[in-house]
Amino acid sequence: MKIAFIGLGNMGGGMAANLVAAGHEVHAFDLSEQALASAQESGCEPFTSVRDAVQNVDAVVSMLPNGAIVQRVYTDDVIGHAPAGAVLLDCSTIDVATARAVGEAANSAGYDMVDAPVSGGIAAANGGTLTFMVGGTESAFSRAEPVLSAMGKAVIHAGALGAGQVAKICNNMLLGIHMIGTCEAFSMAEKLGLDPQKFYDISSVSSGQCWSMTSYCPMPGVGPQSPADNGYQGGFATALMLKDLKLAMEASQTSGAEVPMGQRAKELYEAFAEAGNGTLDFSAIIKTL
Ligand code: NAD
Repeated sequence: MKIAFIGLGNMGGGMAANLVAAGHEVHAFDLSEQALASAQESGCEPFTSVRDAVQNVDAVVSMLPNGAIVQRVYTDDVIGHAPAGAVLLDCSTIDVATARAVGEAANSAGYDMVDAPVSGGIAAANGGTLTFMVGGTESAFSRAEPVLSAMGKAVIHAGALGAGQVAKICNNMLLGIHMIGTCEAFSMAEKLGLDPQKFYDISSVSSGQCWSMTSYCPMPGVGPQSPADNGYQGGFATALMLKDLKLAMEASQTSGAEVPMGQRAKELYEAFAEAGNGTLDFSAIIKTL
């Protein structure tokens, strides 16, 4: 297939390279010359504008920083400029309302479109092992699925337009909450004189067990290898967790959902980021407890 790829940053760069590796012809565009040059090294063909990149393609994939940019790129340069039969896939993490609005605008212009945010970080983007949660019609999903499969290990149809973003922010709100809970439990156990390894041995097979403990333990030297064992470098940046928690809080307001724990997690991550820790892995919040 011919695929336009817009936004070749930390995530998009690896994803576009995996589309090339799967045999697709990838037309790349990014505002950053450096990002575009490295996409070219991975086998993408560089273009000088979104409108040029989307000419004659079968699909358009985007991986952009936020909803305002996604809206502008699609409204100004993709819808009405990509061929009528192209399927549109936005993989960025953005607010639910914008995802729905852009998708509906695309549908009204005759395009199939999905929101397809990802779980997994830069390593998963490079390794082609992302999980995609997809919102859109059955027919849009079935057209998007083969494109997404070339970049991920799991592609799940969440529901109608916007449902991918709903799944993403609800999942990451839960992740933020249970990471802070795990950090609190380790810190208090240690203060009360319990060896962290002993606490792990017990809690990881008891009812407090959760992913933050057994797959991504915030306590250095305990559990499987995680960013805690590497000075909290790499992994999932605090700034990105905060972005997702802010999106979740916006969605809680528009939907009327009560999310007191999500709200508190957002406040704690906001304070942690403002104290200069935005680039550290989100499990580093244990340092404040
Ligand atoms: P990034 O900043 O590294 O990449 C974004 C790219 O978009 C940049 O190269 C930028 O130049 C480009 N860009 C911005 N405006 C543009 C425009 N108008 N036209 C073309 N290109 C434009 O960000 P990232 O880490 O790759 O994240 C991208 C998306 O993926 C975000 O929505 C983020 O929330 C989501 N995400 C990131 C991670 C992660 O671990 N980094 C994990 C899951 C989801």
